[in-house]
Parts: sequence; C-alpha cells; structure tokens
Amino acid sequence: MDITDVLRAHRVVAGHLPPTPMWNYPLIDRAAGTTVLVKHENTQPTGAFKVRGGLTLLTAMSPAQRARGVLGYSTGNHAQSLAYAAARFGAPCTIVMPRDPSPVKARAVRALGAELVEYGATFDEARPYAVNLARERGMRLVTAADDPELVAGVGTLYVEMFTHSPDIDVIVVPVGGGSGAAAAGVVAAALAPGCEVIGVQSAASPAAHDSWRAGGVVERPNRTVVGGLATGSGFELTQRLMRAHLADFLLVGDDAIAEAQRVLMRDAHTLAEGAGAAALAAVLAHRDRFAGRTVAVVCTGGNADV
Ligand SMILES: *Cc1c(COP(=O)(O)O)cnc(C)c1O
Repeated sequence: MDITDVLRAHRVVAGHLPPTPMWNYPLIDRAAGTTVLVKHENTQPTGAFKVRGGLTLLTAMSPAQRARGVLGYSTGNHAQSLAYAAARFGAPCTIVMPRDPSPVKARAVRALGAELVEYGATFDEARPYAVNLARERGMRLVTAADDPELVAGVGTLYVEMFTHSPDIDVIVVPVGGGSGAAAAGVVAAALAPGCEVIGVQSAASPAAHDSWRAGGVVERPNRTVVGGLATGSGFELTQRLMRAHLADFLLVGDDAIAEAQRVLMRDAHTLAEGAGAAALAAVLAHRDRFAGRTVAVVCTGGNADV
C-alpha cells in the first residue's frame, strides 16, 4: 500500500463522489487559538469517510468476484460503506451483526439493499459465524481496517485535503482500526512531507494508541461509548503504517469528545457522531501544541444516534 495505490483510488472515488467541503469557523478558531480546518466527511452519502474504501475495494474486484459478493461484520459505518458500494456495482452484500442491533443502523443497511443477518450476542460470536458464512457462500470477507484497498481508498480524503490546502501544518485523525490515520500518514509523507499527522483515540479504548507506543499489536479493554473508535486490539497493517508516519498519538476522554460534538453543533452547524468530533476534542485539549499552526481535523462521520 503506497501513494500510487492512493492516487489510483483517487481516480476511482472522484468518479463516484464529489470532494467533501473543508473550511474553518471563526468561533472554533477562537476556541482553539489557531486556524482549524474541518474536513466534512459527515456530508458523504453514507454519512462517513469509509465509503471511499468500499468503492475502491469493489472496483478492484474482478467481475466474477463481484458477482459472488461481499460480506462484512460491523454495526456501523463499515457496514454502510460496503452496502453502498455493493449497490453501486450491483453486487450482493451480506452484513452480519450481533442480535438486536440498533434499529437505526439495521434500517440504514437494509435501505441500501444489503441482506442483514443477526447472529450471536456479541461480535466475538458474530465474527466466526461471519467468517464461515463468507466461506460457504463464496463471498469476499471484508474486515473494517486491515485491508490495503480500504486504506488506499480512505487515503483519497487526504489527496483532496492537500489539493485544497497544500500548507496544512498538522492533520489530526481519529483512530479505530487505524485505516484513516495510516492513509493520512502515507499521503502526507508523499505530498506534504512537512505536515505532521497525529492520531487520536478514546482513553476508554486505547488499543491502537498503546500498540503504537509499544511498537507491536496489543489488546486493551474496550469501553468507549464512541462507536467508530471502539476496538479492543491493534491491526498489523495499519499499525505498521502508523509507526512509520505518525508524529504523535493522543488520548481524549469520552466526555471531552461529547463536548466537542456540542461545539461542532453550535459553532459549525454540524452534526458529528462522537468519532467525528474526537479530532477537534484533541485540538481543544492541547491548545499549546497546536498554537500558530494551520490544523486540519477530520470530521469522519455524522451518524450520531438520535
Ligand atoms: C471507522 C471510523 C473511525 C475510525 O477509523 P479507522 O480507519 O478504523 O481508524 C472514525 N470515525 C468514524 C466516523 C468511523 O466510522
């Protein structure tokens, strides 16, 4: 996975989706004490940046593979990304979720034309079931983070970012599985080597942060209420890229994330889900670190619960 893969994905994604807006807001700049550009992935048709990865992955599959379809296990934005991309290509899509998923999320996936299979009480039960089901049906199993095509696809966000504002000093990216931050690092190193990339995770689910600091994949308790950031372990591919490219990795509390959601609602007229507000939360919590620098925060998604 390198910059060439991202640029190839950029041609694909640009054929499906317009660039998302990015601009700053005077009240947020004042609160942060510096210029904060907000990249609005909440405006994607699925409400999150992951759709870039889904489209890239479906494009890379052969017609025969696409005819067999894709299968993912996720309750959140990965599920909608796969379902959206599969629908674009007329490919079958199956999503496995633990029993009794949030009705909002189940409806969104079904409305995109995917088949929803409910199995098990938790993901620990749903995951092996999904692996078997994909094998039985001959569908491609797509995990949420550790796939080079997904990383290349979400990298297109950062190609748009540097094309729009080549002089960004630092990008702050919320991290779950790490595909977004890994991609940001690859793109920044190639297109804007002076730009730092900083990851952010919830202190209540620090597996990616701790893996990055430890220099190897570790497991940690997973207690955050912030959907997109809830993972209990690091992943090989994204950790390797983050180790190569991230300047730092910060933790913020769930309360600070909720407050940043309110700031975005009040001062940027933007409905962000928790994960989509985590980057801003980190900037507001570390004003000194960012003072005088042009900061870009990724509002990764807007799929907040009602
Ligand atoms: C998935 C997701 C994240 C985390 O992204 P990774 O690439 O898994 O690190 C952040 N925000 C939102 C809204 C997401 O859906």
